[in-house]
Amino acid sequence: MHIFVPRETDSSEPRAAATPDSVKRLCRTGAVVSIESGLGSHCHWSDAQYAKAGAEIAESRAAGFEKADIVLRVRKPEEESIGQMRKGAVHASFLDPFTQRDLIEKLAEAGITAISLELVPRTTLAQKLDALSSQHSVCGYYMVVLAAERLGKVIPMMSTPSGVIQPAHVLVIGAGVAGLQAIATARRLGARIEAFDTRPVVKEQVESLGAKFVEIDLGETGQTEGGYAKELTEEQKKKQREGLKHAISRADIVITTAKLFGRPAPKVVTRDMIEVMKPGSLIIDYAVDSGGNVEGSRPDEEVVIDGVRVLGFSNFPGKVAIDASRMYANNLAALVEMMIDPESKELRLDFDDEIIRGCVVTHDGQVVNETVKKAYAEA
Ligand code: NAD
Repeated sequence: MHIFVPRETDSSEPRAAATPDSVKRLCRTGAVVSIESGLGSHCHWSDAQYAKAGAEIAESRAAGFEKADIVLRVRKPEEESIGQMRKGAVHASFLDPFTQRDLIEKLAEAGITAISLELVPRTTLAQKLDALSSQHSVCGYYMVVLAAERLGKVIPMMSTPSGVIQPAHVLVIGAGVAGLQAIATARRLGARIEAFDTRPVVKEQVESLGAKFVEIDLGETGQTEGGYAKELTEEQKKKQREGLKHAISRADIVITTAKLFGRPAPKVVTRDMIEVMKPGSLIIDYAVDSGGNVEGSRPDEEVVIDGVRVLGFSNFPGKVAIDASRMYANNLAALVEMMIDPESKELRLDFDDEIIRGCVVTHDGQVVNETVKKAYAEA
């Protein structure tokens, strides 16, 4: 069994799909692990550290792909590497299958078993493999630290002989994994926090972290079977915008993390809402890479609207690449441990297992994932 971990070719991607520690874990499955030279360079992990952990350094990228039974990486494969992989090999990475139909069909045609980390079920059993959660967690932290650095104002209350500083107000819209981590981080910094989410179950979690939940009566919102938010009706969207206006007018920092599974992100902050904000305040749009939560936000740019700065990055996890890589590499190691039979040390994909069934997109020349097939049929 050969596992190959190539370098990421996208110049905006500093993360690595394996760390020296995860290599040790991968080797314990009985597999031969090889990496492309320079894999961990952006995270300060040298080839020598990977070699010490048990990895071989592949002669070349092409040689690594040709030998591999399993390829692990962060981003989707480029066409050249699909051509270099063996029929029947497994490729595990983020794939964005709902917007990457051509790529998915190419992977199927090439006979690759493609695993999309976005499709790992969000269940307790699958937590160790849940790369969306691991990346959202580090980003939730990062967004608050970024905002604190940019704000030009301190976050906690300070009583000094020179005057009393009032705590900064933070509003978090979307309290999933990233939003909850942002709340926890802002709380540790001493901010006064309000938060809102369309899933009512979140209220208790928000309050348990010491934030105030903004109550807006949207009527029935519910959630999908997978625990994701459903898209709001036009009427509900209007009510939400109205309901948030008061909280947003008080906020020094707004962090938006609202996402809809497999769909463009909802616009939760519109121009008229920005207009009620204080000049100098800051909005961090975590959804900027999937359409944006904020009207006017642009990836990797600071846009100033009526004196309010709107910021968002196309690769938030890349801003904290070391820990994002560590966590992602652990997610992949847990996935590999599930796929390699401990006795025979051979690849064993158990399609009766809901995790495997959930995240395998292509197999045996076909698109096999039910959610993806349904989305393609409806397109
Ligand atoms: P996500 O990134 O898809 O969305 C982020 C948040 O935005 C969600 O909480 C969602 O409800 C919210 N949202 C969507 N539209 C909104 C709108 N118009 N206004 C305000 N908020 C809006 O979510 P996620 O963080 O990836 O979590 C997805 C689900 O998976 C959640 O239910 C989460 O609890 C669940 N989960 C479960 C486990 C587990 O182990 N059981 C682990 C991780 C996540």
